[in-house]
Amino acid sequence: MRRIDSVLLDLPEDLVTKDQDIISAYVTDFRRQYVGATTALLRPRNTAEVQTIIRACAKHTVGIVPQGGNTSYCTAATPSADGQELLISLERMNTLRELDPQNLSITADAGMILSELQSAADDAGLMLPLALGSQQSCRIGGNLSTNAGGINVVRYGMARELVLGLEVVLPDGSLFSELNPLRKNNSGYDVKQLFIGAEGTLGVITGVSLKLVRRPRQTITAFLAVRDIGSLAVILDAAQTKSGEAITSFEYISRASLNLLLSAQSHLRHPLEQESEHYVVLEATTASPVLNLEECINALLAELYESELISDGTIAASEQQRTDLWRLRENIPEAEVYHGGSIKHDIAVRTSRLAAFIEAACQLVRRHRNDALLSVYGHVGDGNVHFNIVPPAGADKRIFKCSVEHDISPEIYKLAYEMGGTFSAEYGIGRIKLNLLQQYGAEGKIDLMKRIKTAIDPHGLLNPGKVIPQ
Ligand SMILES: Cc1cc2nc3c(=O)[nH]c(=O)nc-3n(C[C@H](O)[C@H](O)[C@H](O)COP(=O)(O)OP(=O)(O)OC[C@H]3O[C@@H](n4cnc5c(N)ncnc54)[C@H](O)[C@@H]3O)c2cc1C
Repeated sequence: MRRIDSVLLDLPEDLVTKDQDIISAYVTDFRRQYVGATTALLRPRNTAEVQTIIRACAKHTVGIVPQGGNTSYCTAATPSADGQELLISLERMNTLRELDPQNLSITADAGMILSELQSAADDAGLMLPLALGSQQSCRIGGNLSTNAGGINVVRYGMARELVLGLEVVLPDGSLFSELNPLRKNNSGYDVKQLFIGAEGTLGVITGVSLKLVRRPRQTITAFLAVRDIGSLAVILDAAQTKSGEAITSFEYISRASLNLLLSAQSHLRHPLEQESEHYVVLEATTASPVLNLEECINALLAELYESELISDGTIAASEQQRTDLWRLRENIPEAEVYHGGSIKHDIAVRTSRLAAFIEAACQLVRRHRNDALLSVYGHVGDGNVHFNIVPPAGADKRIFKCSVEHDISPEIYKLAYEMGGTFSAEYGIGRIKLNLLQQYGAEGKIDLMKRIKTAIDPHGLLNPGKVIPQ
């Protein structure tokens, strides 16, 4: 009997789905770049059932892939195509365990959808600051396993910085449980950090305790036309100073990205009268009922306009206008898909070098393919730019993708490395960036990663073939 069948025989039938019509959506990655295979999808309802599953996998040494919302851009949550691994989805684990308003904390099952956790916090007059374009479908266990970034990092940090406690089922089925939402806890190694950003290779996160903040009472969202990309860092600095560090988002949009979007989604409108090469969506928030944030941002815009750093700008006058401005940023990935899909480069360099990186990378692409469409946008307040290349109209998409990946992508990654940056700002490694980690990983890092993996998962059962180059 195959080992995988022995595992399934050991499990209660109601945890196991073998219907391949159902399974097919789970084994195909979000960008449809990889189609895996599995005999069965396992859907536990609670931590004890996760333990039962992992124990059975450990007993028969069968690999298992954890999956949250399956929105990974690195094919990190799909099993391999040989069908030798099982898939565990956390989607049935979506109970809110506790919300403590005085402690500003929320504790929940790892399968909760991010937007549902945000709503729970909002209902309590609080806010969960983690926010990203996939928030309607990604799940909090996946967010922590990828150490997700998103649009509020400039103020609140990456997902890791919001974590107070974790509950994790380890590769032998035992439990690590430190879900206590304490702000201070120096009782030994802070081992929960190991599982954040591990992309499911060290254990299955089943419960999370997160920090909340007070819900903003004032939110100002502005859309600015920036004259010179070289002044992004100066504008951010001025915005932070004028607002007293109240900037929560500072997102860049290039003219090309905005135009791709406006041509793909005709119901959207350009918010300014004249086009510009560069735009920024800036958002400032405060929980203070006293501070006059509007005055601060108006003063900022006047100063930026006078010093000719921006040529135009608008401030959302209603919640609807705010939503409309954010769509101009958040719908860009969909617009790229509409135009034939993009070859993505998720780059970060220090903020002071970001403009130089973008300019050099644009020149580099032009030297190879003058016809390529450059969709450049991202979380520039964190030094993170999505430097994406879209095929020109009429090009054979498959041939274009191959040629960009072969000739241009390696040079972009090299440039980022030479400028002290990284090839993976927020999407992780998964199975598609193993070579890049091998090439550009920090000295000694892969060796240490292997030692940690061997110590926690000696038989390599958790998410095999991901994150750690062989
Ligand atoms: C439109 C769009 C916008 C996006 N924007 C951003 C962005 O701004 N910032 C950003 O960082 N990312 C972004 N992403 C990428 C993606 O949404 C994030 O990586 C997200 O955190 C993944 O969550 P998920 O639940 O979908 O995880 P999955 O894709 O299901 O899994 C991701 C990884 O985590 C592991 N995993 C999942 N759940 C668990 C668990 N409970 N325990 C252990 N391991 C687990 C998986 O094995 C896999 O390795 C975006 C994606 C899309 C499609």
